[in-house]
Amino acid sequence: MSEQVSVKPTTKICSHCQTAVPLKATRCPQCQGDLRSWINQNPFSTFFLVFLVLPIVVSLSLSSMQPATVVSPEESIANVKESIAFKIGRHYGERVPLKSPSTADYERPTVAQDPKDKNVFEVSSYVDSQNGFGAMVRSYWSVTLKYTGKDIEAEMVNEKNWKVVEFVFDGKKVK
Ligand SMILES: [Zn+2]
Repeated sequence: MSEQVSVKPTTKICSHCQTAVPLKATRCPQCQGDLRSWINQNPFSTFFLVFLVLPIVVSLSLSSMQPATVVSPEESIANVKESIAFKIGRHYGERVPLKSPSTADYERPTVAQDPKDKNVFEVSSYVDSQNGFGAMVRSYWSVTLKYTGKDIEAEMVNEKNWKVVEFVFDGKKVK
């Protein structure tokens, strides 16, 4: 059995000329190279980094971690339903045959949620087009849609879960 003896090193290797120099030397006796740590060699830079740059970096990264807007699940469900209602309602309202389709100028529809039933939406707008006599006329239309599915996105985007309850075009109830 060999005895293990731990001997503390008394020398270190100079990082400039690779020769052994006393452990506590701050300057290499061979090449006069500076053997202090970077922090001791650059006290001003260290101070600058720790007290000026670091706080700025930390505060910037903390502020970028703040959530921009908080949307409740209820709110986001209503938003998805509204956008689907808009798409279906617009498609419905804009496929009505017109006397002169090439002259049609469709206004972007608006969507309103029924205050009494959060699954009922009214999509409405108007279209300007020439009538049989060549005069431009404005026709208002509105589609009432009812959502019959569950409050999950996969069902909301499925058009089978939407029913056209009523469709009024130009003052006439079409459905
Ligand atoms: Zn050296």
